[in-house]
Amino acid sequence: MARPQKMVIVGAGPVGSLAALYAAQRGYQVEVYELRPDLRDPRIIPLNFTKSINLALSERGINAIRHAGMPELLQDILGACVPMRGRMIHGKKPSGALYEVPQDFDVHGRCNLAMDRGALNARLLDALEDLPNVELFFNHKLTGADFRKRKAWIENRDRLSPSGRPREMEIDFDIMLGADGAHSAVRYHMMKFSRMDYQQEYIDTLWCEFRIEPGEARTDGSETWKISPNHLHIWPGKDFMFIAIPSEDGSFTCTLFLPASGFATLEADPSEVPNFFDVNFPGVRDHISDASLIEAFNTNPHLPLISLKCKPYHFGSSGVIIGDAAHAMVPFYGQGMNTGMEDVRILFSVLDKHTAQLAETNKPLAEEEFDEEEEESSVEAAADQAHAQALAEYSATRWVDAYTINDLAFQNYVEMRTSQSTTYKLRKSLEEFMSLHFPSFGWQTKYSLVVFSNRPYSECVRRTDRQGRVLMRLFSGLVTSPFLAAGVYLAYSYRRPMKELWHNAVAIWQMM
Ligand code: FAD
Repeated sequence: MARPQKMVIVGAGPVGSLAALYAAQRGYQVEVYELRPDLRDPRIIPLNFTKSINLALSERGINAIRHAGMPELLQDILGACVPMRGRMIHGKKPSGALYEVPQDFDVHGRCNLAMDRGALNARLLDALEDLPNVELFFNHKLTGADFRKRKAWIENRDRLSPSGRPREMEIDFDIMLGADGAHSAVRYHMMKFSRMDYQQEYIDTLWCEFRIEPGEARTDGSETWKISPNHLHIWPGKDFMFIAIPSEDGSFTCTLFLPASGFATLEADPSEVPNFFDVNFPGVRDHISDASLIEAFNTNPHLPLISLKCKPYHFGSSGVIIGDAAHAMVPFYGQGMNTGMEDVRILFSVLDKHTAQLAETNKPLAEEEFDEEEEESSVEAAADQAHAQALAEYSATRWVDAYTINDLAFQNYVEMRTSQSTTYKLRKSLEEFMSLHFPSFGWQTKYSLVVFSNRPYSECVRRTDRQGRVLMRLFSGLVTSPFLAAGVYLAYSYRRPMKELWHNAVAIWQMM
């Protein structure tokens, strides 16, 4: 009997924990090493985060959890989410008017879900703890790795040497998955073995967390929210903004994004914080007291935002990086964690494909030819070959989509700060109009394809770029040709019968 392959996963954040579930289900002997103490302890603050931020969980993340093969886990996670049916934009003074952007909910019934990052992580870790082939090591920091010898060095912070330093231990592995975040140690060590291209950029914006407390509880004890719970609330500014994401307990986790110079000005005189909010984010002071605004600003860290790209993601058959370790992005598309979870689904589907292909070519030997030792080493060699082929394929294909979403997130950041050309705005409004009024003809905005589908990100961009060009041609035709304008007007007025006609035509065409 061949020994199971040992997969070491570094980082027990949402991506590493999900990867461990996938690996365990495939029979790997899984060891997870996490730098922090048990992340389920609410006192533990995750690296590079504040207490715990609320995230938008969308289709790609949900789909990856769906494929982990634990339907009750998915139900549990979905049950702890608050649906956000659209964005609520809070206008500037003096009106402070609210403007609702329905996003996709009204048209297709799909929406982003708000989820507490810590609660999601805890649910994944709980599921892991029940599995016999998974061992979790908290307070263990990866300090070195040799991807040729398949050895790694881990600092055990629970065991101190007589001099008070954490003890270092050596571990071995067949394959290591680096899910250790933007400042990945696995990536750092892998770079010594693989010719990895790498680029990173810190944007000139920092973020700080605030909180809107729950409203008064109803008589039945259920939570109330001070502002609509089913929206992502945005107070936009030119180069700064404030957002609020609902939590299950009736509170909102809020984030201030502001250039470093803006933080510096307020740090010089924090008593100005309420006034700053009053001028720029009208209405927020009705929900957060001045004292809480100042306290949150003074106590919560002012954290940087990094965008990074690298490739390839692997070395031979022994190591691969996923999640933020491979492609940390600015958070303005709400896709960072969703992309990381999608990495897990795609990586394991490529591993499955190559493992199955090799099993097919290496059919078991007839009984008289069977030699246990030989069989064991050939099974190990086959697993190694499958890993090598899978990691190479994963690296060669995944980077295109990771770069695309990284760019999209960055473009959103730039879009928020700079005014766009009239053609650009026109094209965007036309796309939104078509998606809202002609959904059955397949028109979808870039946002809805990225957030609510599982199509590769690069395909979403290609498709919406093509769509945009057609729309712009149609629009110029409309302006210059009264016949075309009349045609479109009729198509819009009779869109329901047109839709039936379209479906019938497609059905007839398929039958032919
Ligand atoms: P991480 O969450 O960073 O986890 C890495 C883990 O590795 C950590 O637990 C760390 O302690 C551990 N580790 C690090 N070094 C070592 C080591 N040497 N040894 C052992 N362990 C180690 N994404 C979305 O999808 N939707 C959103 O709405 C969204 N909003 C965001 C808002 C903000 C303000 C920010 C900053 C990010 C947001 N993101 C969002 C991005 C999302 O948080 C990240 O993409 C996600 O957390 C990445 O998960 P990960 O598991 O790859 O890395």
